[in-house]
Amino acid sequence: MIVSNWKMNGSKLSVEKWIKEVSKSILPKENVPCVFCPPVCYLDLSRKIIDENSSPISLGSQIIESSTQTALTGGINSQMLQDYSTDYVLIGHSEQREHYKEDNASLRLKLNSAIDSQISVIFCLGESEEIKNNNKTKEFLADQLEPLLEQDFGLLTLAYEPVWAIGTGLNATSKYIDEIHGFLKDYCQTRFALKQNVSVVYGGSVKLENCEEILSSNNVDGLLIGGASLDPETFSKIYNFS
Ligand code: PEP
Repeated sequence: MIVSNWKMNGSKLSVEKWIKEVSKSILPKENVPCVFCPPVCYLDLSRKIIDENSSPISLGSQIIESSTQTALTGGINSQMLQDYSTDYVLIGHSEQREHYKEDNASLRLKLNSAIDSQISVIFCLGESEEIKNNNKTKEFLADQLEPLLEQDFGLLTLAYEPVWAIGTGLNATSKYIDEIHGFLKDYCQTRFALKQNVSVVYGGSVKLENCEEILSSNNVDGLLIGGASLDPETFSKIYNFS
């Protein structure tokens, strides 16, 4: 899976241009979904352009609320996402963990909501620089995985995104990524006895120049790309490397 996360970027014009260009440029592979996560206000437009162009791109949301009922100004719930046939949702991105004070309990509710609505989850996790320097990464990630306990996933993708690598230009080395992805897969199998295989994609300063090396590990099942995915040509080239 190759995921484009636009964060809080874009316009109607750039969304339309991106979808049209990427749809023409990528060589779609059945086992490598191409997922576009625009700001939520562009989901409607994106769905329309994807459908009109018979595009192979899948649609992902950057947000989901845990409840469909709560009075919540600004909230976007799973039913609204279903209305746009949203295929995927990012849950647990480090920026949202920080800004919205998300914790394991609130993330668990968001996971429930996505699973109940059959929206495929891309669950993001990753350690800070301080945790890495204190050699506590694996313990920390194990704790971040706890909301997955006893959840019934049809399909689960983890996005390993070390916080120190997001938007900094400093990607983790392929050796480090390989080790951490291997740990996440083993941990999910033993701790959660997940029936299906868990896919683990990497995110954090992925660029055209480093994507091939990162993807060369057998433990890397794809990429989640922020900044470098805004340019349709760069994103398409990265997809085609996968
Ligand atoms: C992200 O948005 O999750 C991300 C990894 O961003 P960037 O590729 O810009 O580091």
